[in-house]
Amino acid sequence: MQDVSSNNNLFVDVILPLFLEQNYTYSVPENISNLQPGVRVIVQFGSRKFYSALVYKVHKNKPEVDCKPIVSVLDEFPIVNKTQLLVWEWIANYYQTSLGDVYKAALPAGLKLESDSNVSLNNTFTEENISLNEKEKQLVEILKNSNVEIQSLLKKTEIKNVLSVIKSLQEKKIINIDEQIESSYKPKTNVFVSLAKDFKTDKIEDYTNLLKRSKNQQELFNYYIKISEGKTDFKIEKSMFLKTANSNSSVLNALIQKGILTSFTEHVSRLRKTNATQGIHSLNPIQQEAYEKIKMLFEEKNVVLLHGVTSSGKTEIYTHLIQEALKQGKQVLYLVPEIALTTQLAERLTRIFGEKLEIYHSRISDAEKVEIWNNLCQKKEAKIILGARSSVFLPFTNLGLIIVDEEHEPSFKQFDNSPRYHARNVAIVLATFWKAKTLLGSATPSLESYSNALNGKYGLVELTKRFENVKLPEIEIIDLEQSYKRKQMKGHFSFTLLEKMKQTLDSGEQIILFQNRRGFSPYVECKVCAWNPRCPHCDVSLSYHKYFNKLVCHYCGHSEKLPQKCPSCEQETLQHKGFGTEQIEEELKELFPEVSVRRMDLDTTRSKKSYENIINDFALGKARILVGTQIISKGLDFENVGLVGILNADNLLNYPHFRAYERAFQMLTQVSGRAGRRNKQGNVILQTFSANHPIIQFVKSADYQKFFEQQMIERGLFHYPPYYRLIEITIKHRDYNILNKVAFLLAKTLQKSIDKYVLGPNNPPVGKIQNYYIKTILLKIENTTNIDQIKQLVAKEVNNLLLKQEFKSTRFFIDVDPM
Ligand code: ADP
Ligand code: ZN
Ligand code: ZN
Repeated sequence: MQDVSSNNNLFVDVILPLFLEQNYTYSVPENISNLQPGVRVIVQFGSRKFYSALVYKVHKNKPEVDCKPIVSVLDEFPIVNKTQLLVWEWIANYYQTSLGDVYKAALPAGLKLESDSNVSLNNTFTEENISLNEKEKQLVEILKNSNVEIQSLLKKTEIKNVLSVIKSLQEKKIINIDEQIESSYKPKTNVFVSLAKDFKTDKIEDYTNLLKRSKNQQELFNYYIKISEGKTDFKIEKSMFLKTANSNSSVLNALIQKGILTSFTEHVSRLRKTNATQGIHSLNPIQQEAYEKIKMLFEEKNVVLLHGVTSSGKTEIYTHLIQEALKQGKQVLYLVPEIALTTQLAERLTRIFGEKLEIYHSRISDAEKVEIWNNLCQKKEAKIILGARSSVFLPFTNLGLIIVDEEHEPSFKQFDNSPRYHARNVAIVLATFWKAKTLLGSATPSLESYSNALNGKYGLVELTKRFENVKLPEIEIIDLEQSYKRKQMKGHFSFTLLEKMKQTLDSGEQIILFQNRRGFSPYVECKVCAWNPRCPHCDVSLSYHKYFNKLVCHYCGHSEKLPQKCPSCEQETLQHKGFGTEQIEEELKELFPEVSVRRMDLDTTRSKKSYENIINDFALGKARILVGTQIISKGLDFENVGLVGILNADNLLNYPHFRAYERAFQMLTQVSGRAGRRNKQGNVILQTFSANHPIIQFVKSADYQKFFEQQMIERGLFHYPPYYRLIEITIKHRDYNILNKVAFLLAKTLQKSIDKYVLGPNNPPVGKIQNYYIKTILLKIENTTNIDQIKQLVAKEVNNLLLKQEFKSTRFFIDVDPM
């Protein structure tokens, strides 16, 4: 017998937006034709759930087991192209995750439809003639009030095994379940006004007569005729029309009723429309030379590293490369590590490229993301996408160039969620698939990229001078130990720093102060018994945030009130230790009461516009001092900053991590680079307890080469990147003893096969987060070893452990190339 429901025995493998090890196969019904990879289809998965899945492969291999048919097809054309799927495969394979996880990360929410099954009471239902058990009665009571989604039923009710109760009620035909698949993306619409369809232009006189009695209507009509400039197809947005005409809806409605005007709804784009207002700067001879060299190197290398000191004009060089790519009709991806950076850059690029620029990052609305996505898919225009790491997932159709600005930044790595990808590295892969070129730029390149440049894998171009030969800032080191001893401190400010601040303010310049810690004080401690408040869910001390007057956990967000007395010895002896940006801001109010200050850190930039407001206020000179955490170190360009003050460099140096020195060097150099941009050398005051530390000395002498050589020796000696690759396995469990056991077992089995360099189980600096205890295992793998084999081995051993009853609620996270 022939299978009637299936068309030519055609099947599709689909990617579901779930973490699943494999892809699932569905059959294609008769009435569906022309399915291609990259199209979304609705499929049933499990007994009640419907998902929008992505067609991955179309084939004729009938699977062994029966498969369900596709329910329906959502797209006429693919919304994900072949190259994207290749990149997804690479990500899933390299970062040890599933295609489903990549799918989830890649698409904006509006393109991932969700199935929210709705349960409602059948309206023919009466309680008299059916016998219900207790649970069924309970559920019916709930449903009497309203329809409920199954998901929320699972959350809200205390009825055990709700799903089976739902099922039995459904069988008795007491309830209905309807699966609605809803898209959260709604196109934006506006109401427009135009001439009515059967309006006759040659009869204007008649219409004017018709309006004789109402002066308002006559005026509005005349206004329309005036602005339409004789174009019969002229349309204008209703609200704008009424506003500029100084009229109102009832006047307009009268005109509509008389068949003169009409109103209608239309989709409008949410995307920005701005015209270029300024040409591109011409490059100076040194920049021109660098630009030519980059182009020359691109002829033989896929990747070039542009190592240029801060303010040498890297961004100017980018714009010339972008212009050239656009001229060839290519698309450009401009990646930045931090959303905060897009504000200034967007302005700079818009002035040159106008509406060719699109911005894509997590702070823009989902509807806008969908629109950018669809536009890219459908129109193969030359565009520049300026975005944060998730923009590597966009559906480029003709990518020619990727710029990774501040390529050394660790925030390019997604560390908290799967896929744990590094956007710089994915960008390089993406570019290769497109036969496009990648330019990495930084004043302080990562050790990885710089050694790739030295060993010839990447091309290397260096700019050692600032634009217009302005000198790099003069960095003065203040030894805090001496300053405290000699009583040359006011709060956290050395006398030298205060003196320089006064001079800077007097000369009309601005100041940036850097403290890499938010909040008021990182610790609160009892002077008498050393009690300190700790997070109940995580193994960390709580930080004090004065503005909220609360103790806050920086890991899970838990907050509580600061007790007045020490809960342990009951004395009023609690004191603050250490300091954060908030406390600096407070001290400034006393030291410089007249001067306006802005603070930029995670606490002050939660809302959508807050970055922009703070940056604009400072750029326009409304604030004279900007206090901030590492957010301010990244590529911001202000004209008038005479002084940068680093309040305490020590927590950067003392951080227990193999990258601590690399990051300290990068961050201190970058922050210093904010001083004295346009036409004048700036000053930096760097306060530290480790004045003689080699890293501090490298920063002072702006000696990247020495820093690089010294760090590379250490990395080689201790088997770290770039000489070795790392895989970090994080293991979590609510029960400490089980965690201990399973971590130990895994480390032991891995040691047997990999012998060298399986480190751990280790206790991470924070040993418990949100009630889960944590251990880690670190694998160090020589560059010459086949890393794929090791990844497979890890996956196999982890799965073996999960199959054991005792360990089944353990959580494993595999991070390839952890930062
Ligand atoms: P970087 O990206 O290396 O930090 P930028 O490209 O931001 O350097 O340049 C620093 C400043 O100097 C910017 O304000 C920029 O507009 C200006 N500048 C650099 N090169 C030129 C140029 N060729 N013409 C005009 N202005 C330039
Ligand atoms: Zn106490
Ligand atoms: Zn916590």
